[in-house]
Amino acid sequence: MSTRGTAADEAIEGAIALLASLAAGASPAVLSGRDFLERVPRVEQLGRLVDGLRVSHAAEAANRIDGPVDILGAAGYASATDAVGQLTAVSESEAARRIRVGKALASGVAISGAVTAPRYPAIAGAVATGALGVEAADVLIRELDAVAPRVDPVVLAEAEQGLVGLAAGTDDHPPLRVELVRVQVKAFVLAIDPDGARPREQRARRSRKLTFGAETADGLIPVSGLLVAEIGATFKRLIDAHVRKVSFGDGTERAGHPGGGSMDGTDLFAASADDRTPAQRRHDSLADILSAASRVKDAPELAGAAPAVIVTVTASALEDGRGVGYLDGHDTPISIDAVERLADTRGMQTVTLDRAGRVLALGSVQRCFTPSQRRAITARDGGCVIPGCATPAGWCEVHHVIPWREGGDTHTDNGVLLCWGHHQRIDTGPWRLSMPDGVPHVRGPGHHEWTPTTTSRVRRALPLTG
Ligand SMILES: [Zn+2]
Repeated sequence: MSTRGTAADEAIEGAIALLASLAAGASPAVLSGRDFLERVPRVEQLGRLVDGLRVSHAAEAANRIDGPVDILGAAGYASATDAVGQLTAVSESEAARRIRVGKALASGVAISGAVTAPRYPAIAGAVATGALGVEAADVLIRELDAVAPRVDPVVLAEAEQGLVGLAAGTDDHPPLRVELVRVQVKAFVLAIDPDGARPREQRARRSRKLTFGAETADGLIPVSGLLVAEIGATFKRLIDAHVRKVSFGDGTERAGHPGGGSMDGTDLFAASADDRTPAQRRHDSLADILSAASRVKDAPELAGAAPAVIVTVTASALEDGRGVGYLDGHDTPISIDAVERLADTRGMQTVTLDRAGRVLALGSVQRCFTPSQRRAITARDGGCVIPGCATPAGWCEVHHVIPWREGGDTHTDNGVLLCWGHHQRIDTGPWRLSMPDGVPHVRGPGHHEWTPTTTSRVRRALPLTG
């Protein structure tokens, strides 16, 4: 199309035409499995070569705006980022990234006219051949730049070369994914700049935060933050260990009980699989952890209660099982089911108001299992009573098997341990609970008869005959 320019311009026009025709004819859908696996990395290399050109040209924009003749400024661009953004229609952050990477990889021209080496020659070489992607290059450049002022240039160059070898792959090992490149570069940087970590850590520590955002229209509360490394790691370990350990619907044998799962007309199998996403599972694990943490400092007069979670609900809504409650400080109503679960675990206090809103009477705390009841139930159940769930007792809530509204007592014979996730779905999920002679029994997928259930070591040692 363009008739101006150099041989390189002609090559670019030729490449555009070639790639356009290639894109039209190279449908991946027709490939065999093996050809597809071979094709994907080759296409990636093609993209990387183009990316190399993108960053080198973006960096040149920066040269030109800073140069003796500001032709971009003359053309009306406010900055190199502005010029790249407008010329390519990418976001400002992407333009800035291309410039940053391009600058680190560009060869310079000295005043004498001699070409000077790029700041990171090994990375530049690997990007130029398509062996290293811009994303990985960016990771390496950022980390190496951070220590470059404090490290011997020879050591830095060796680290750069080693990292490029790791990231781009060699004859001995395949290329590393960017996540692993990030881990490796941190290890290298720590090795060549051992003292650097401390000030960086102090800086990072000052940035620590945990914030609660404005409630969404659906009543969800956004949480975000930056945890210092050891807190974040502990948190992740705790959640991950729990998520792996706890799964819904384990311990069931679908194939072994053909047609046996409909004692009450519902398909017990259909609901038995854990259909929660990993993110939902992490959320539920956090709920268990908070449930445990909230019991650590039980106020003696409000036994088993979590500090400062107050729900307001009218007596009639609670009696009818219809209506809503309100969490203190939040405008979005919560369902009566959620109110009930909170009342089970945290207790409930009746406040009688007159029409004007004056407090007429204050009842005592009801419905909440006391710490000693909880200990007794823990000794009996050992943990969440749902088969296949390994949530430990300390992380469980106590559930009224016969609902309090239907006359169920707050008695050890009517309370079982359930993890937060199972407590949420005990009314709608596949499992049913009963307490003949005060011993928890379940019925559900893979357990079509009422089956005694426990994870308690003490109880398993006893004959389970009631
Ligand atoms: Zn459970």
